Amino acid sequence: MEATQTIISVACPWCEKSEIFADKNADINVSCRCTWCKKYYKIDFKTLRAIKIRAAPRKSLPNKNEN
Ligand SMILES: [Zn+2]
Repeated sequence: MEATQTIISVACPWCEKSEIFADKNADINVSCRCTWCKKYYKIDFKTLRAIKIRAAPRKSLPNKNEN
């Protein structure tokens, strides 16, 4: 049996050098950072469009002040 699978790739909208891969379309948005140009972008996996985002997403770090 061959496990052939269609893989979708979405290129970085800034430099188009890096790619994010997905198994299939889904109704989700994923934000990621390009490993080449270090810029941020968001992928809508429903329409498979990469959208440039300028601001860095906030890191969800544990609250250190909490004690
Ligand atoms: Zn890039």
